[in-house]
Amino acid sequence: MEWTDLPHSDPNYDPDVDTVVRQSTINSLQLCGQRVALSTKEGYLPLVSEQLAFGTCVHEIISQDISHNALQQDMLLNMGEWINEILVTQYEWSLDQIGDPRPFFSEIGVAYRSWVTKVAPFIARDNVVESEQEHYMYLGEGLNGNIWLKGTADLVMKDRLVDWKTSGRDWKQGKADYSIQASLYMPLHKQALKRSLRKFDFWVYDRSKSVWRLHPTSRTIAEINSALHTAYIYGLQIESGHLPATPVPTGFVPKRGWYCSAKWCNAWNICESKFLNDNVDETVVAIRKWK
Ligand code: SF4
Repeated sequence: MEWTDLPHSDPNYDPDVDTVVRQSTINSLQLCGQRVALSTKEGYLPLVSEQLAFGTCVHEIISQDISHNALQQDMLLNMGEWINEILVTQYEWSLDQIGDPRPFFSEIGVAYRSWVTKVAPFIARDNVVESEQEHYMYLGEGLNGNIWLKGTADLVMKDRLVDWKTSGRDWKQGKADYSIQASLYMPLHKQALKRSLRKFDFWVYDRSKSVWRLHPTSRTIAEINSALHTAYIYGLQIESGHLPATPVPTGFVPKRGWYCSAKWCNAWNICESKFLNDNVDETVVAIRKWK
């Protein structure tokens, strides 16, 4: 599949035999394939994380602002209701389990108000094409069915894609320039919307400084084709189910990756590939907690 030859008419997606690739799954695979392989097995701990939930809540209030083209005063005044719903439906968690929620509410409010004053003026509402629409793109044949790329851009403008990120600190520009999300969302939206979009703006909310920073990036056609090929190969791997464990990333970094721990790996309790000759205690049991 290439930028200049994207399908205009796709085979229909069949959830029984087809395989879906998301950029977030590729990011997980790049850390450790076994995490993805074990994600549907009994004993895998559903994800819950303060950082992810914070990002989801900030996305939600921004998304409502854009779709109604209005300040979301009601959401700011009634945070308990919609935030609890997000926690319950997306994280199998609830506000009752996070202690005093006021600092969490307050920070979401600060991030949103800062977005309203510092970021929204850059968003020409007349140029908005769509917001938070899910798309599928056919990548090629697999062994059993077809391989699909799936993604949802936060915002599609007439001349660029836009994504909101929340982070403990600001990004380095390289993170935007090497992002496979940007490389894949460009052809995904070209195919879906018939728009040649090769610019991507990452707006990153730096939680340590409570500021939004813009990291614009762009891609060549060769870079986009390379990412499409990579996504297809990852799709074939996912379809096969043969995903190797990589608790140690490379021979040049001869120690366990941070992600291979009871704290950060949801598959820790059921993984048979985590035992290494280092000083980590693999008998520690991982528990779901707000972290
Ligand atoms: S415990 Fe380590 S080796 Fe096992 S899936 Fe998690 S990251 Fe991979």
